[in-house]
Amino acid sequence: MNNFDWDKGFCLDFDLETAFSKTAEATKRRLSQMKGMFCDIRATEKILEKEDPVIYEFYELGCPERAGDLAFGTTILYPGKVGSEYYMTKGHFHTILDTSEVYYTLDGEGCMVMENMEGDTMERPLRKGEVLYVPRSYAHRMVNTGDTPLRTFFVFQADAGHDYGTIETKGYRKLIVEKDGNPAVVDNPRWI
Ligand code: MN
Repeated sequence: MNNFDWDKGFCLDFDLETAFSKTAEATKRRLSQMKGMFCDIRATEKILEKEDPVIYEFYELGCPERAGDLAFGTTILYPGKVGSEYYMTKGHFHTILDTSEVYYTLDGEGCMVMENMEGDTMERPLRKGEVLYVPRSYAHRMVNTGDTPLRTFFVFQADAGHDYGTIETKGYRKLIVEKDGNPAVVDNPRWI
């Protein structure tokens, strides 16, 4: 599906619940597609014995991957935990590493976990009505620490590309877990 005119421009009724989600293409990520990404493998398996929950979904408009365009869309990250670890997106580097991204939080609360190739890590809050600038060269992953869906609008350089592989094989250095009822940043014991 691609009925947006990227050369002439277009207007879009941007209503996440109705119009936008009907015109954009949805991609769902279920727990079975994120096996091994949550630290607690046994907790993952236990959930999967009963169900395969949708962890997050994102909506894209099929922007051509060419320099000069801006791709945008929305992500809905559901609330929940696997073991003590909050639901999160897979996270990625951009293939063109030195490209940034803007996230505007439409609803919910959580954080963006970021790290670069040099091992510099940072976590910044995602709060309704606030914008987060993800700087160039940082892998980024959304984490939902609240109990409602975390909804964000994102914009990035259309030809930036997504590198999921580095994160899938190595994991993140930091995890966001619930500790005594509150979100806490801990070292990933399985980081290699
Ligand atoms: Mn990105």
